[in-house]
Amino acid sequence: MATTAGTDELRTAFSGWILEPGDDGYEEARRVHNGLVDRRPALIAQCRNTADVADAVRFARAQGLDVCVRGGGHNVAGRAVVDDALMIDLSPLKGIHVDAGARTVRAQGGVLWKELNRETALHGLAVTGGAISTTGIAGLTLGGGLGWLMAKHGLAADNLLSVELVDADGGVREVSEESDPDLLWALRGGGGNFGIAASFEYALHPLAMVTGGLIAHPVDAAADMLRFYRDACATASDDLTVFAALVHAPDGSGMKIAGMVVFHIGTPEEAERDLAPFKEWGSPLVVEVGPMPYQVMNTILDAGYPAGSLNYWMSSFAKGLSDGLIETMVERFASVPSPMSAILLEQFHGAVCRVGVTDTAVPHREEGWNLVLPSVWMDPADTDANIAWTRETHAALGEHLTDRRWLNYLGDDQDSAVRAAYGPNYDRLVEVKRRVDPDNVFRHNHNIAP
Ligand SMILES: Cc1cc2nc3c(=O)[nH]c(=O)nc-3n(C[C@H](O)[C@H](O)[C@H](O)COP(=O)(O)OP(=O)(O)OC[C@H]3O[C@@H](n4cnc5c(N)ncnc54)[C@H](O)[C@@H]3O)c2cc1C
Repeated sequence: MATTAGTDELRTAFSGWILEPGDDGYEEARRVHNGLVDRRPALIAQCRNTADVADAVRFARAQGLDVCVRGGGHNVAGRAVVDDALMIDLSPLKGIHVDAGARTVRAQGGVLWKELNRETALHGLAVTGGAISTTGIAGLTLGGGLGWLMAKHGLAADNLLSVELVDADGGVREVSEESDPDLLWALRGGGGNFGIAASFEYALHPLAMVTGGLIAHPVDAAADMLRFYRDACATASDDLTVFAALVHAPDGSGMKIAGMVVFHIGTPEEAERDLAPFKEWGSPLVVEVGPMPYQVMNTILDAGYPAGSLNYWMSSFAKGLSDGLIETMVERFASVPSPMSAILLEQFHGAVCRVGVTDTAVPHREEGWNLVLPSVWMDPADTDANIAWTRETHAALGEHLTDRRWLNYLGDDQDSAVRAAYGPNYDRLVEVKRRVDPDNVFRHNHNIAP
């Protein structure tokens, strides 16, 4: 518990807000995206600048408080908020500065992808962000960051040039390839283990209009569609990324469908040519595909993931899209308890797979698919049924899955998968952790123990 005198001293220079239980804003600030997470920090330090973040870390250490860090608040494990800890909340840190000439952007730790996209779009530029626009840049990038642009430009972490990092002593380090290549390597996918990223600098790429949208088939055609999808993806260029999902119609009817979300960043003519097989296959219920700004493409799935919904996710990279995997997916989807849940395949190919396994902390560089069970529901009475279905489905698919796991999707009960998420990079990450955070101040994350 923090002393009153200590808290008063922290307040004297603090630019942001220090919230205690009972204060206006405390209840709202402790909420994160996943409505299953209901924890009560001792204090919430809402930071407005890097000096606030540094003071908050020093205060926590002096007072013996645990530290947890909130960026966009989207992590399903919900470790941005921890009972009785000091929650260092970066959500007011919204600064974004694009250097159009250098094709870089510097953005602070509370920025969301929709905010970053909007700013970079002013200059006809973009960087890989998440597949939806409401996630935070901080947790997503530190965990690797897969998204629509990864086949062309790699992961968010692959585009990370430097980080303004508040370390475990409350010092500030400018971490770049020149200043500390080892630590930058670790920040490119090693999660929140090494300090608090007050701001991120990314490389940008020219991008304005893309072609994208949804193709939906009757669920009875799901197995055939997934086999077509597997074969059609084999020849996809870096310009084309297609995710496939067994999902429910977005119109609220609750109808089960088999869908493909397509994304193409070439010219309209190239997109027309490459997307024709996807649009023409079978007897689709809906083909809603067309040109749109990238920042709009980044929002088309947002409505399926409302803030405060209850989330339990599992995922693993697939061994390949075998007929056996496809059949089990279809069979398991028949019993899915929530119309908001899906079985999703994220396609990995192109630039993301040309980075070496040990070049960044993210080892997942094989072509193929990440299979995700993003279970989402609204009524707490349905929690047990949804968690049980997700676990049973992951187990039923097990023989078709590798032990490789996407760090950003690990839930609160999946710490045993942290090693699998880092693969052969784990031991080097431990070395960096020992150097920069030997006391494991930053441990409320998918932790790399020093
Ligand atoms: C609907 C939905 C869609 C998603 N889509 C994608 C996707 O397309 N691609 C993908 O890769 N992931 C995706 N994710 C996973 C997402 O990337 C992770 O949950 C990520 O952690 C979210 O970052 P955040 O800043 O919003 O989360 P937070 O919950 O705020 O942070 C997550 C953790 O990251 C650490 N952290 C956060 N900010 C900082 C910081 N500034 N410095 C140091 N540590 C920090 C902390 O340990 C914290 O507990 C999705 C998640 C959801 C719920």
